[in-house]
Amino acid sequence: MTRQAITLIGGGLVGALLAQLLARRGFEVDVFEKRPDPRQVGFVGGRSINLALAERGLQALRTAGLSDDVLPRAVMMRGRMVHPLEGTSGLQRYGVDDSEVIWSVSRGGLNMLLLDAAEAAGVRLHFGQSLVNADLDARRMVLADEEGTMRPHDAPVLIGADGAGSALRTVMDHYRPLGIRVEPLGHGYKELEIPPAAGANRFAIEPNALHIWPRGGYMCIALPNTEGSFTVTLFLPAQGPHPSFDTVPDSAAAAAFFRQDFPDLLPLIPRFAEDYDSHPVGGLSTLYLDRWHIDGRALLIGDAAHAIVPFHGQGMNCGFEDTVVLADLLAESGRDTGDAFAEFQRIRQPNANAIAAMAVENYIEMRDSVADPRYLAKRELGARLAERAPKHFMARYRMVTFTHLPYAYAYERGRAQDQLLEQLLRGSTSANDVQLDAAVNTLQATLPPLPQLRHG
Ligand code: FAD
Repeated sequence: MTRQAITLIGGGLVGALLAQLLARRGFEVDVFEKRPDPRQVGFVGGRSINLALAERGLQALRTAGLSDDVLPRAVMMRGRMVHPLEGTSGLQRYGVDDSEVIWSVSRGGLNMLLLDAAEAAGVRLHFGQSLVNADLDARRMVLADEEGTMRPHDAPVLIGADGAGSALRTVMDHYRPLGIRVEPLGHGYKELEIPPAAGANRFAIEPNALHIWPRGGYMCIALPNTEGSFTVTLFLPAQGPHPSFDTVPDSAAAAAFFRQDFPDLLPLIPRFAEDYDSHPVGGLSTLYLDRWHIDGRALLIGDAAHAIVPFHGQGMNCGFEDTVVLADLLAESGRDTGDAFAEFQRIRQPNANAIAAMAVENYIEMRDSVADPRYLAKRELGARLAERAPKHFMARYRMVTFTHLPYAYAYERGRAQDQLLEQLLRGSTSANDVQLDAAVNTLQATLPPLPQLRHG
């Protein structure tokens, strides 16, 4: 029997994992990747140097048989270490123990591991090959190599995992409008580095945490790398009154700004001036599409279909969850490709929309509320309710980060729980003001039990 051929555009995180999953399910898979092979020339990033891997992404890696290879190369993050401008830093743990942690992984390292795994599963990888056009009726595409030489190539089924700037999306949109909507956040980001420390403890600050310096309308975060460094990301309005990337255009202005706003962080970044002046400001937007596919001919997945802002650390995790759903649908015997693509969109689109909204909300929470007493009171009351009535209350962050409950469910349930907390606190800023037995009764009378949880 001939194996069904699938052509993937993009061998980034989502493309490489999807390729492996499809090959393991018996498909003949070709991946065309614009960049050169990172395993030979080194990883050319352009985006965040490290990322937070959470339960959804981990579950997809388990399905691919790769989690045991990835975790030893990751740094465990047990919670948020919040660094206020005044006062002492404190760790807000994600869970009671290490069963609920997230992992800092190197984007380049993970991408290379996934490419190795795809190749080992029989995927044909073609580097330095960009999709520039496609004729979806004739089921042919046009590729350009690194010299710009074009060549046609047959592609009966095309899947675009070519990221937020997807070329396949542009082609599909010309063929049949996809209903593309881009919502810029109005904030950008810049990456800096805390190098490894001298001495036995290689890390200059607590290694097992996601560090946050919340400052109201903006913030810095830092994620650990295995060799002892941290990647720091400054998030700031792109334009407007101070501080914005407009008002801190260079390292001299930025150093003065950091001395004022991040005085404990600045001394940890010895190459501040070089990093600030040479690293670009990245833009942040949310991408929504009405349609993710053209019949059974072409489909978008991962950031190409639903790029989101990075404040929930879920873009890759969501894309990884996509890959398992799609590979399973395509492998179902007797299912037509167009039907599988339509079903994929039906299942995943409401969830992608929900995580997109939660990611924007989480920016406000991270940069502002983690230091806000009212937020902390709600958090504390939520934690008490979750302890007393775990079948009825679970923090939204926990549903998103540590379970496989659909994002859309987490979004709706989170909203209902938040309304209840507001009602129980009634303007108070301390969870101690709330009588817990009565609060549990109200919770159980108001909200149905949570669904049965599937843990990895
Ligand atoms: P990409 O990673 O963008 O890969 C696309 C691939 O397609 C690339 O290899 C590219 O070279 C290739 N390509 C592009 N055009 C073409 C073409 N025409 N032809 C052939 N190949 C092409 N997510 C998390 O889960 N956790 C985090 O902590 C996190 N932090 C982030 C921090 C920042 C600052 C940013 C910007 C994003 C973050 N994300 C995070 C999101 C995550 O980076 C993305 O969701 C993820 O990279 C999406 O993977 P992808 O494979 O869909 O796209």
